[in-house]
Amino acid sequence: MNKTGLVLFRSDNLRLNDNHVLIKAHRENTNVLHIFIYDSKIFGINNKLYKYKDLSQLDYPKTSIFRSKFIIECVENLKKNLKNLNNDLIIKHGNIGTILKDICEKYKIDNVYTNQGKANFEKNSLKNIKKKLGNNVNFNIVWENTLVPINRLPFNIETTFPNTATSFRKKLESNCNINFPEKIPKIKKQHINVNIESDVINLDILGFTDKEILKNKQLPIGGEDAALNRINDYFWDKQLLHNYFDTRNELMGENFSSKLAHYLSSGCISPRYIVHEVLRYEKTVYKNKSTYWLIFELYFREYFIYYSEYYGSKIFQKCAVKSKTTYNWCNDLKLFKLWCNGETRNPLIDAFMIEMKNTGYISNRGRQIVASYLTRDLNIDWRLGALYFQSMLIDYDPALNWGNWNYSAGVGSDPRENRYFSIPKQAEKFDPKYKFIRHWLPKFNYHNDSYIKRLLRKGTRSNKIKSKNRITNYYKKSY
Ligand SMILES: Cc1cc2nc3c(=O)[nH]c(=O)nc-3n(C[C@H](O)[C@H](O)[C@H](O)COP(=O)(O)OP(=O)(O)OC[C@H]3O[C@@H](n4cnc5c(N)ncnc54)[C@H](O)[C@@H]3O)c2cc1C
Repeated sequence: MNKTGLVLFRSDNLRLNDNHVLIKAHRENTNVLHIFIYDSKIFGINNKLYKYKDLSQLDYPKTSIFRSKFIIECVENLKKNLKNLNNDLIIKHGNIGTILKDICEKYKIDNVYTNQGKANFEKNSLKNIKKKLGNNVNFNIVWENTLVPINRLPFNIETTFPNTATSFRKKLESNCNINFPEKIPKIKKQHINVNIESDVINLDILGFTDKEILKNKQLPIGGEDAALNRINDYFWDKQLLHNYFDTRNELMGENFSSKLAHYLSSGCISPRYIVHEVLRYEKTVYKNKSTYWLIFELYFREYFIYYSEYYGSKIFQKCAVKSKTTYNWCNDLKLFKLWCNGETRNPLIDAFMIEMKNTGYISNRGRQIVASYLTRDLNIDWRLGALYFQSMLIDYDPALNWGNWNYSAGVGSDPRENRYFSIPKQAEKFDPKYKFIRHWLPKFNYHNDSYIKRLLRKGTRSNKIKSKNRITNYYKKSY
């Protein structure tokens, strides 16, 4: 019997290769439509970050200009690749449930397919779509974008979760094989006449009229093609994977780490594909600590995805997965904005935050340092920092962002609750000649090293500024 299916691509699953949503849809239907809908609650400059009961509304869009630009490129690339296979991607902007319902009724869609969301907001949004579509359409939510699918985990995630990331990884490493990536399914030619005009979506339409900030920057290009090129470049052409373990904590440049996070978070590449490329590299070129370490990091990613699955809405709450916290964080928005804008007067922190403001990216080391400074030195509620990252990061992933912030704030399931990064020590180790600081804060080109060294203690515990008021007064004085 002829069935018509529809694949709803979402902004975390934008690829054709190794995509189980696409495979299932093409296996179970004779006609398949493909659609991407820019959710009007997520995209657009006027969609501000969520409001917590006990935190103020923040004046930052949920999706920054950097991530919006990146996703637009991913979607265009997906459309181009489907066109090359004699099919198409319908692109719309609005309320996902309403748009889908109209299309399902008009084209008598039997089955809709999409991937499972990684955190509560995404899951609730899927529930609402399902409700809107009603009982005439089968709404299929497919588990995607992990190394090991949820139904093959070596423990029952409904009831248990390993205490630490290490025990999680060891359980998976010793009990689970990582499936080979699947090829693109045979994309069927459509036998129904689809007459839906796509919306034109660009930064102007999303309200980003001031695009100066994008100029003269080496921003990553979105899309599956760019993701596959990055693998080629990083693994094969330049063989940078070879030294990943030694370079991964650097702060500057294109190639010190894989820079695959934005492709993983947008689903332009599957983690299984990356692992199998590493294994191929190990077999044909070289196997060392670096090659293992990239897989190790992907298990860390996997850990946070399942951590979010297990703990649900808890990861967004002040104490997260702990029953209580010893930290009495404050909600000083003035101080918080100085941190966001790179105006704390601590040169290392400011350099990272200016990088974020100008590119939508900070290295992993940088993220840990600025998170520690916010929560331990400035004593500000970590959720504000997580929200700002959510807005700004090109590679924003709800599970990885909120999970990592849980850890940085000491409210994750990590046994090390009091992790603290001493800013002067971090600078000494990772930016000893202040190259990174001077790159993002060129005014320091006119100052000697000892002047910068003195400033690195600004706002930190070693300055003995502990209480909220004393910190605020300190900054008032500095400005
Ligand atoms: C406070 C904080 C917030 C973060 N928010 C995000 C986020 O929203 N999205 C995101 O993708 N990553 C996040 N990370 C993790 C990490 O910083 C980025 O994945 C990494 O910087 C991306 O660069 P890369 O791809 O070159 O990493 P590489 O070093 O090349 O690592 C390869 C891959 O391993 C995974 N990985 C690496 N480090 C981590 C980590 N700490 N936790 C989980 N997975 C990891 C990522 O998928 C990454 O792409 C956050 C880290 C911190 C400390």
